[in-house]
Amino acid sequence: MDNILQKAFDPERFRKEGHQLIDLLADYLAGTSGLSGGPVIPWKWPDEAFSRWENDNRDNKGKPTIGLFRDVLSESIHLHDKKYMGHQISPVAPLAALAGMLGDFLNNGMGIYEMGGPATAIESLVIKKTAAAMGFGKEADGVLTSGGSLANLTALLAARSLKARSNVWKEGNGGQLALMVSEEAHYCIDRAVRIMGWGDEGIIKIPCDGKFRMRCDLLLPNLQKAEKNGKEVIAVIGSACSTSTGSFDDLEAIAAFCMENNLWFHVDGAHGGASVFSQKHRQLVAGIEKADSVIMDFHKMMMTPAIATALIFKNGQNGYHTFSQKAQYLWSRQNKEEWYNLAKRTFECTKAMMGLKVYSLFRAYGSELFEAFVNTTYQLGATLAGLIKERQQLELALEPECNIVCFRFLPGGLDEKELNKLNDRIRDALLRNGEFYIVKTELKGKTWLRTTLVNPFTTGKELTELLDKIEGLGNKIEG
Ligand SMILES: *Cc1c(COP(=O)(O)O)cnc(C)c1O
Repeated sequence: MDNILQKAFDPERFRKEGHQLIDLLADYLAGTSGLSGGPVIPWKWPDEAFSRWENDNRDNKGKPTIGLFRDVLSESIHLHDKKYMGHQISPVAPLAALAGMLGDFLNNGMGIYEMGGPATAIESLVIKKTAAAMGFGKEADGVLTSGGSLANLTALLAARSLKARSNVWKEGNGGQLALMVSEEAHYCIDRAVRIMGWGDEGIIKIPCDGKFRMRCDLLLPNLQKAEKNGKEVIAVIGSACSTSTGSFDDLEAIAAFCMENNLWFHVDGAHGGASVFSQKHRQLVAGIEKADSVIMDFHKMMMTPAIATALIFKNGQNGYHTFSQKAQYLWSRQNKEEWYNLAKRTFECTKAMMGLKVYSLFRAYGSELFEAFVNTTYQLGATLAGLIKERQQLELALEPECNIVCFRFLPGGLDEKELNKLNDRIRDALLRNGEFYIVKTELKGKTWLRTTLVNPFTTGKELTELLDKIEGLGNKIEG
């Protein structure tokens, strides 16, 4: 028997297993693997799943790895299935997964230039292309980082460094810093505020209008009130779009407000930032180019494997303030020349080669690919809304602006509490059944079924079947 280390690095074994895996995935995509056509989510309770894998570990040690790959593929939730309509993460374009494999194999740490020459340049290129698509000028720059939540925190640290009166980096939080954001913002903003040590008082939630967009007319009174209470408000965050309902805040209005009041304007475009690639839909994010900072997830609307997020600063130099105090930055202008040492601007020290996944798509298909994805999935949102409105027993929460659609089963004769319970039970039944995958959300005390249409190959047929199924389940549960 060869040395175990040599075995683990055996090129011929790698070639064989690699080919087997690619064949399996290609068959899966083509629908000929025998693994598709079943439930989109093969539901198991967590403890059941754990024992299943405990058994695998006991019984299958040393057996061909392709068996493991096949089992994981078959038992996972299937984002490439037309009936996947749940959380905001896209089915991956196969090429981006291949690029991801290359990145995994190379494992270039790339926090510093030496540890990832091509990957560093490619990341910068991806950032420049994205910034240009957003309408930013040449001074814009940024980084890729591990997810929207981390990117938002990173942006806010830069905002704090540049806007706060005190030097928080050096002296810690002195006064009460705060930011303003819509009450429908993603929970990671609330987390970021608390991570920065601003506490309850640090987040000022601005109420939304009937379409769940931030009421910009309430920004000024809230700012005045906060200042009267001794708070130092430094930023406003626009959601483009909000997670629950896919509502786009009025970025132009927020930009004007921030400009007038000398506040940092940040846009959380994790999901809807991709609208910039669509001629048809880019007006949803009009004003995005006025933001001081913007984040956008490639893994949500751009067919890229998780996790890859762009953080872009209108003035690229501002990104260097994230992890350094003002004075230090001024003394040493060295940072300016070091765009290529990315860890200066990111949380990551060892950094994954995420740009490669995005770049492979840009290079092979151009940004038209992203435009097609946005247009197709947003259209599916409109189609589903239309189908819902045709049905007596379904209620649409609001006209969708993108591919996120919320609705509920609404038979006559039930009060709000009973309706919430019923829709909870419908969603639970859907999950256990597994034929479709959708999620749910709560809006102003009401429970809604929530879909994100992220599979561009979903058609009206699957949407109709979903609604039939929901009505069927709803009437059965109620009856
Ligand atoms: C998904 C989402 C996030 C979080 O992004 P992750 O990549 O999951 O960390 C933040 N903000 C909004 C608006 C989102 O939709």
